[in-house]
Amino acid sequence: MNNALHEVFVHNIQDIYNSEKQLTAALPKMRDLAQNPDLREAIGAHLSETQEHVRRIEQVCRLLGCGTGNVTCQATTGLIREAQEQMQEFAPGPGGDAAIIGCAQKVEHYEISNYGTVIEWAKQMDHDDVLDLLKETLKEESAANEKLTKIAEKQVNEAAREAQPVGSGASLM
Ligand code: FE
Ligand code: ZN
Ligand code: FE
Repeated sequence: MNNALHEVFVHNIQDIYNSEKQLTAALPKMRDLAQNPDLREAIGAHLSETQEHVRRIEQVCRLLGCGTGNVTCQATTGLIREAQEQMQEFAPGPGGDAAIIGCAQKVEHYEISNYGTVIEWAKQMDHDDVLDLLKETLKEESAANEKLTKIAEKQVNEAAREAQPVGSGASLM
């Protein structure tokens, strides 16, 4: 296919490929620093899903005949940097867990936005071959996001509210 939308579509698929690759490298540290067992389990499970997301995007690229490209997802780089910064600032514990959930949900929302966009474009261009693969991943991103919401609402937010401040700036407040 040779049109402006297809060109933008391919770039964004390659951007998502790089995003998923960056996330597979960043999630283990977030999992290991998480103290709440359910949170640790949720991040670990989503790490496995994310590894599958990389394989799905590789499959999408094969079907499109475009290769995985050499795009750097700057947004993901920034979101990971922010997570690393907060994990340094807030020691492991309820406060750290709340920070990890907040940062992880920024990532999931970003991914939900990405997949929503490329799914619309795939529909527009009748790329039915890649549609199911993209929808499958979108479903898992949404489910991961909802799981994090539940862990925050049912456990972590209250635990953090009951805990003493542990941030590097805490003593100044
Ligand atoms: Fe993903
Ligand atoms: Zn990007
Ligand atoms: Fe994700």
